[in-house]
Amino acid sequence: MKNKNLKALTLPELKAFLTSLGMKQYRANQVYQWLYQKGADSFDDMTNLSKEERHTLNEKACISNLILVKRQTASDGTEKYLFELEDGNRIESVLIPDEDRLTLCISTQVGCAMGCKFCLTGKGGLKRNLEAYEIVDQVIAVRRLLNKRITNIVLMGMGEPLANYDNTISALRILLNEKALNFSNRKVTLSTAGLIPQIDKLGKEGITVNLAISLNATTDDVRNKIMPINKKYPIKELIAACKRFPLPKRRRITFEYVMLKSINDTKEDAERLCRLLKGIPCKVNLIPFNEYQGCEFKKPDEEAIERFREILIDHHIMAITRKSKGADILAACGQLRGETINNP
Ligand code: SF4
Repeated sequence: MKNKNLKALTLPELKAFLTSLGMKQYRANQVYQWLYQKGADSFDDMTNLSKEERHTLNEKACISNLILVKRQTASDGTEKYLFELEDGNRIESVLIPDEDRLTLCISTQVGCAMGCKFCLTGKGGLKRNLEAYEIVDQVIAVRRLLNKRITNIVLMGMGEPLANYDNTISALRILLNEKALNFSNRKVTLSTAGLIPQIDKLGKEGITVNLAISLNATTDDVRNKIMPINKKYPIKELIAACKRFPLPKRRRITFEYVMLKSINDTKEDAERLCRLLKGIPCKVNLIPFNEYQGCEFKKPDEEAIERFREILIDHHIMAITRKSKGADILAACGQLRGETINNP
């Protein structure tokens, strides 16, 4: 029988499992700390367990781990990691250093079914959902490689997190749990293409993280073309879901807006965006499109981006133009797929 992966268990499940092996319940907290806070990848490292207990765990259990296949560093310091999963599928995570922040962008699926036209990940379709421990293991693996504290987590890598709802929620619980990875909920952001029922469900889940909506258009006509999910959940309904999302005090929803030349970058778009977002505590991230070989879209010129941003600012909407990060190693927004898609 295959050994039990302890990272696939919740803390109560871990307690039950260790008890079934004849270990005392309090050992579960110690093992949990080893797994997440100390990032142990071997039971032999767990020096506060007895020799017999470590032996039993070696016999009956295992600790999941991602295999690093490739690590690339961009000229701006952004790092992209290609990891192999147990079944041979591959995923990517991206580390973005920015002043005093070290943000890790993690994947939630192998590929993605959403098919956004500007996104390389979407081009290969969905292979499978990641397990919760595979989502969390990206953080543990990168932390181990860096030997530094990761300050922020964004669920914005490969996949639509809310299409892998249960595993994403379980992963968030581990990221936020003070006995596990202990991230502040202010430092964790989940980005969605706009799955309305799951956004509503997230609002009732009892966990708080930052919500980012990948909006990218101001009319259904344009959004239907670049984000097929809009045909199911059109802009008006998506904005209504944002308005009823239970935001904690002083929090804002982030709207991501990938800027595509002559498609969504006009003055009219900016004005429509202001009307759409009226009344929502929010900020807008303008992301100039990262062109790649063979892509059908272009990045707008600087003036168009700045004009767009100024219109938002004039309407008292916080708007930031995101600098492209890691574009030279295809690590920028919407560029993750790397070798994963061609991997048999
Ligand atoms: S932008 Fe996000 S949701 Fe859209 S295809 Fe890419 S990974 Fe999927």
